[in-house]
Amino acid sequence: MQFAINTTFSNIRFKLNTILKSVLLFLLALSFTQYSNAQELKLKYFGGAGWEMSEGNVTILVDPYISRLKLGDSPSNSKDDTRKSYYPKDVYQSDTITINKVLDKKVDFILVHHSHLDHLADVPYIAKKTGAKVIATETSCKILKAYGIPEDQLLRVRGGEDYQFDKFSVRVIPSIHSALDDKHYYDSRQHTEDIDLPLKLEDFIEGKSLMFLVRFKNHKVLTAGSMNFIEREVGGLKPDIILPGVNFSRLEIYKYTERLLALTNFPKIVIPTHWDNFRVPYGFSQADAIAKKVNPFIEEVKLASPNSKVIVPVHLETITIK
Ligand SMILES: [Zn+2]
Repeated sequence: MQFAINTTFSNIRFKLNTILKSVLLFLLALSFTQYSNAQELKLKYFGGAGWEMSEGNVTILVDPYISRLKLGDSPSNSKDDTRKSYYPKDVYQSDTITINKVLDKKVDFILVHHSHLDHLADVPYIAKKTGAKVIATETSCKILKAYGIPEDQLLRVRGGEDYQFDKFSVRVIPSIHSALDDKHYYDSRQHTEDIDLPLKLEDFIEGKSLMFLVRFKNHKVLTAGSMNFIEREVGGLKPDIILPGVNFSRLEIYKYTERLLALTNFPKIVIPTHWDNFRVPYGFSQADAIAKKVNPFIEEVKLASPNSKVIVPVHLETITIK
């Protein structure tokens, strides 16, 4: 009997030892995974100048324009796109079905470069859905207020701010809009008074332009919403990753790629943004935009900053940077 009891006890002790070891190993593996995940930056391209950026447990959206409405009678529209066309006097409507499909995680912050519809127009719905705080100009915030986003969620900025948050910081950089229409683009309008719904497409005016330097724990990302920048504002920034606008209007700017990369200390990773045809839904070919805008840009980077690696983003696919 004594023998039997001893055997049972030693069996139990053996099992406890094994369980304890397994638990310790599991905890070790878990903390290692979390540690290595915390080092990684994940970027997902929404098209236009739109991004989801995550490091650790912080998720920030930038200019999330996901509706990709068919706009007017633009030659960029596709014959295969059977959706209705929107014109400047039409009331803007987000494609909430697509947004709900695409946004699958909690969002902490939304940064908005300027208030044109391909940057801001889905932010009211996304801010309401996620409760994320928005960092944007007064014009953007007036539009968000009209949609009922509470003041508590809105951080109005003008450029020059450098804000520390819990696990990241954001430097807000004054910038200028792309030189559209053969450099005839100029729009000084802003929304400074409260405005009422419904908002038409044409109500999404520029309202001043910004760039952002987002400093996560392990990576620094410089974002852009236009193919333009102010030299004295970006000079001396040292991002690891730069997301420069590479639409055709970059060619209006003196040595755009060469100057931008030199001013920002030749970032290790260059990911072109705002090059796709955002008038067609996800899944439509972007081959033309890649051939005409992205490929020539890659050649510009090779000459201007040969040690930089260019990553061409694919809609909704995650890029992981160690
Ligand atoms: Zn714009």
